[in-house]
Amino acid sequence: MNVHEYQAKELLAKFGVGIPAGIAALTVEEAVAAAKQLPGPLYVVKAQIHAGGRGKGKFKELPADAKGGVRLAKSIEEVESFAQEMLGNTLVTVQTGEAGKQVNRLYVTDGVDIAKEYYLSLVVDRATGRVALIVSTEGGMDIEEVAHATPEKITTITIDPAQGFMPHHGRAVGFALNLSGDLNKQAAKIAQQLYTAFVALDCDMLEINPLVETKDGKLLVLDTKMSFDSNALYRHPDVVALRDETEEDPAEIEASKYDLAYIKLDGDIGCMVNGAGLAMATMDIIKLNGMFPANFLDVGGGANKEKVTAAFKLILSDPAVKGILVNIFGGIMKCDIIAEGIVAAAKEVNLQVPLVVRLEGTNVQAGKDILANSGLPIVPANDLGDAAKKIVAEVQKVA
Ligand code: ADP
Ligand code: MG
Repeated sequence: MNVHEYQAKELLAKFGVGIPAGIAALTVEEAVAAAKQLPGPLYVVKAQIHAGGRGKGKFKELPADAKGGVRLAKSIEEVESFAQEMLGNTLVTVQTGEAGKQVNRLYVTDGVDIAKEYYLSLVVDRATGRVALIVSTEGGMDIEEVAHATPEKITTITIDPAQGFMPHHGRAVGFALNLSGDLNKQAAKIAQQLYTAFVALDCDMLEINPLVETKDGKLLVLDTKMSFDSNALYRHPDVVALRDETEEDPAEIEASKYDLAYIKLDGDIGCMVNGAGLAMATMDIIKLNGMFPANFLDVGGGANKEKVTAAFKLILSDPAVKGILVNIFGGIMKCDIIAEGIVAAAKEVNLQVPLVVRLEGTNVQAGKDILANSGLPIVPANDLGDAAKKIVAEVQKVA
């Protein structure tokens, strides 16, 4: 789960992390009122969407030379006009994809006199089983580009969770950022505070880009992205309360209600599979046969009729879907039960696109008989390769 920049900053402030003063706003009036509460004379109006690259982004509705989603305002009047330009409009950044994201919230924050921008992030590193603290002197810009062009400018420090954050980790951060004196001490402290927040909030990613040094010698978090381990959300009702469903794909929200792991993709073939590994293999083999999957969908081990029906509805809610491939291994759930679910669901949703079903496992023959006797134009398949070939052929027949 992701949160907005202003929400992440409010969470971090509780851990003592230095952030510029700022207030969130949903309307132009609120943005003006927010600016009036800030010291000025410089304000920054920031679009709040769940994507980075806002500063260099473009609004679809504004002229091509207009500025992006992070704007420096020199007066309350400018705050007002920037808020007017941004709210309700669609911001396209390198991270939103072509469709962009509608800006429904703003963050009005203190303008900071920046001396230098740094990069700092924390992620769970599964390879080492530790938290990786990644720092670079090249802040403010695209870190992927820095990693590609000048990897020597990125330092990774791993922290053993059993040991926790030690003074030497802090010194390593100051050293990597080339800081000395008081700034070096501040860097060590902020790294420790961020690590503490990361662990306490069960984050899976916490990125500060940029972490800035101000002209008067302070380190502040100017921008942050934070995401949380969804398996740990039950421990953090305060974090769950920050969820902004307007930022999420409606189909994925619907899927989460039925405990279905669904991710929308750009292809034509809807997939319904049990098990994430089998789902990945199914997507691969569709591609191998020349078409693209429209989604990833794992119905889980204990799929029943309700789940299968919900899954069918989800797949069909995507107008791009030209055919469906069901690939189920009946282990815990027997094939005949699955087949009954598929037949009932196909009837209920009045299926109009070709459907290829590959069943394997317990009671497979009984399952195949149910499909064959259903009176529905279900195409049975014997194995994964056969299933992929058949769905591609069926879809091309219709086209
Ligand atoms: P994004 O990464 O989505 O583009 P940022 O918040 O990082 O958004 O803003 C982009 C750039 O705008 C920053 O690198 C920084 O140079 C500038 N900026 C952001 N917030 C402030 C601020 N409060 N004061 C001065 N400059 C800012
Ligand atoms: Mg940024």
